[in-house]
Amino acid sequence: MSTTVTRPQLQFLHQALEDLKSKHQYFHLRVLEGEQKPIATFDGKEVINLSSNNYLGLTTHPKLRRAAIQAIRKYGVGSGAVRTITGTMKIHLDLEDQIARFKKVEACVVFQSGFTANAGTVSALLGKEDLIVSDELNHASIIDGCRLSRATIKVFKHKDVADCERVLKETENWNGRKLLITDGVFSMDGDIADLPALCSLAEKYNCIMMVDDAHSSGVLGARGRGTIDHHNCHGRVDIQVGTLSKAVGALGGYVCGSRELIEFLYHRARPFLFSTSHPPSVAATCEAAFEVLDSEAGERLIKKLWSNTKFFKRKLKKLGFNTGKSETPITPIMVGEAEKAFDFSRELFSAGVLAMAIGFPTVPEGKARLRTIITATHKRADLERAAEIIGSVGKKLGIV
Ligand code: PMP
Repeated sequence: MSTTVTRPQLQFLHQALEDLKSKHQYFHLRVLEGEQKPIATFDGKEVINLSSNNYLGLTTHPKLRRAAIQAIRKYGVGSGAVRTITGTMKIHLDLEDQIARFKKVEACVVFQSGFTANAGTVSALLGKEDLIVSDELNHASIIDGCRLSRATIKVFKHKDVADCERVLKETENWNGRKLLITDGVFSMDGDIADLPALCSLAEKYNCIMMVDDAHSSGVLGARGRGTIDHHNCHGRVDIQVGTLSKAVGALGGYVCGSRELIEFLYHRARPFLFSTSHPPSVAATCEAAFEVLDSEAGERLIKKLWSNTKFFKRKLKKLGFNTGKSETPITPIMVGEAEKAFDFSRELFSAGVLAMAIGFPTVPEGKARLRTIITATHKRADLERAAEIIGSVGKKLGIV
């Protein structure tokens, strides 16, 4: 039996949790039993899973499993140190070379997660004297990196190139460094940044250009090379971040760019310097994932991902749901009030569909939604059935 009790110093937590409950922002963690698949068991119930980032189904791909097991046999389960002490294994460097080739850049460094890649990179490159110009819907890891850097942060309206230029004009004579930063695909809305226009602004106003391609790697561009490839902006983006935790199916984040950028990050990015590197099995898994991506089998998976996405979006629209401005497999179902979104999600779960509700602070207040992601491994029948259930529960709750 646990002997831990809340001591007086932490008693504010009780009230804080009660506040969350009263604002409908309190949640329970759904527990996955078994594999992360399109039909999966959460909290003891089999449901159609519309809420994973497992775009291509690689989390359970046989080739990736084999690679992980072989790496454990060959190298053990841990790297034993941070990269700058004794934790750089040859397999880490091999993976980085492979990602750099895939992304068509000079060099790459892998971090423990996409979150640490963003936060570690922004805070290493910018300081107190510098300026960051950032889309208002950029990911939390970018926002945290900006804050950690202590640079001046100016936010432009979401995807609004004219507003971005307004900010850049106002700060034209800035003395320090300038960074223009955007998500490639926005994680809660599924829309795509206007990279060619933003790259032109970065060129015109002398900014470092940085793109977070967490949701576009493995999804957009030739063989999933991301938004830079999708928009043919090769050579115009100084820093490309990606994650190994979504379409790639495992864990980690990476930064791609020039060799000098990567060497600078070796010396200054704090998660690289102060947190242990990936177990070799993770690196091996990711190597296998990029082999799959950069093959005809990968191309087939991406094609299926997009045809499933189009099919499901059409179904939702026909049922009358508002799916916002999504252009990618991330398909929000806009609800508005958080309470209603959470009710919708709960009722869907009872009816056999997992579609997680997202409320404040992940999205702005009053813009709560269900966030669905379609994958390459959903069967058409699963999607038909899911849409049917979403339609009937949506009607019952007065959402459509
Ligand atoms: N950037 C974006 C846009 C994301 O959606 C996420 C994941 N939520 C991350 C970065 C962080 O990636 P990871 O989960 O690998 O830390």
